[in-house]
Amino acid sequence: IGANEFVILLADLASNEAVNHIVRRAVESLEGPMSIDDERLYINANIGISLYPHDAPSSEAVIKNAGVARAQAKRQGKRLNIAYYSDEANEASSKRVRIETLLHQALRYEQFAVHYQPKVRLETGRYSGMEALLRWRSPELGNVSPAEFIPIAEEIGLMPEISSWVLTEICRQLKQWAPLGMEDFRVAVNLSPVELRDPEIAERFLATLEQQDVSPALLEVEITETAVIDNMSTAVKSLQTLQDAGVSLAIDDFGTGYSSLSHLTSLPLHVLKIDGCFVRDLDVSPNNQGIVNAIIAMARTAGLSVVAEGVESEAELNWLCQSGCDEIQGFFISKPVSAATVTAQLIENIEQAHPM
Ligand code: C2E
Ligand code: MG
Ligand code: MG
Repeated sequence: IGANEFVILLADLASNEAVNHIVRRAVESLEGPMSIDDERLYINANIGISLYPHDAPSSEAVIKNAGVARAQAKRQGKRLNIAYYSDEANEASSKRVRIETLLHQALRYEQFAVHYQPKVRLETGRYSGMEALLRWRSPELGNVSPAEFIPIAEEIGLMPEISSWVLTEICRQLKQWAPLGMEDFRVAVNLSPVELRDPEIAERFLATLEQQDVSPALLEVEITETAVIDNMSTAVKSLQTLQDAGVSLAIDDFGTGYSSLSHLTSLPLHVLKIDGCFVRDLDVSPNNQGIVNAIIAMARTAGLSVVAEGVESEAELNWLCQSGCDEIQGFFISKPVSAATVTAQLIENIEQAHPM
């Protein structure tokens, strides 16, 4: 649109975040030197980004605001500069870039920890297992939620390394718990959609268990329905391999995806976890009661054990006790806590568990 000014128009974006990805590719393509007539030339560029309809109500305004953002980018004074028109988008994108950069060092500097949240069997009051939840404490950013950093770790290809660290850490912990002699006790680990797309995932998972000398029967894998549907044939193969080896399989956050009975019966599953959003105010919400009753009926039809996630109050627990639900998990029992804290809770539970 000018002597050295270009517009890239991105239509039909799946999300505003998709812009970051495309901008990064544009910057990468400008990073290296260009060879022209045996000369190595470096290109300077300033990129300004404006989103319709968020930043501007019309196409003219989008182009004008992108120009404003470009001028702002230029003030950063580097060779390649990027700025969004809006402050929030600027902040979000620079936080993302910071997370990306810092994640690369997090494993090496031992900034990760695995926390554990117990699950309780209602019939006995005993801990039936734990869910392992990854924690990242960054000296620069503070505690970053896994919901925020795991998708980024996936995108930049760090997830295999991080997951293998998580699993090794869980194995170490399971060996420490072994002398306590719990029966039918499992630690559940989450697998992300990107991990499920990896055809070797089951083999690598089982290889780690073998290296650590831990029985697959002590582990459960949590996956979401959407993750499986995204790549049905690869996922089913991996899940089957894990099940054949004795790993138990749970469908996580159930009710938030397709909630299909046919998926429940055709996938090799053992456990269904009802998403916490349906557990909220169960004692007084007829809507949620209806949904939870329906999900429990589906789980029974498919022969699955039922865990209610996100139980926060005694009233929710009491309602679940008469619903046919098998296990509960949530802040009412315990928040996810460090291995040391959960071990003390586990010992206390072994000594004085009583039916709920
Ligand atoms: P998720 O697997 O559904 O985990 C349950 C989330 O609910 C956890 O959030 C947990 O702290 C939270 N929670 C538990 N009880 C309650 C409650 O009573 N009330 C409320 N409001 N929340 C409760 P967290 O730890 O932030 O993890 C978020 C998500 O990040 C997880 O959702 C899981 O999908 C993912 N994630 C965590 N650790 C890992 C990991 O090691 N690997 C992978 N791939 N994903 C992980
Ligand atoms: Mg989970
Ligand atoms: Mg969940």
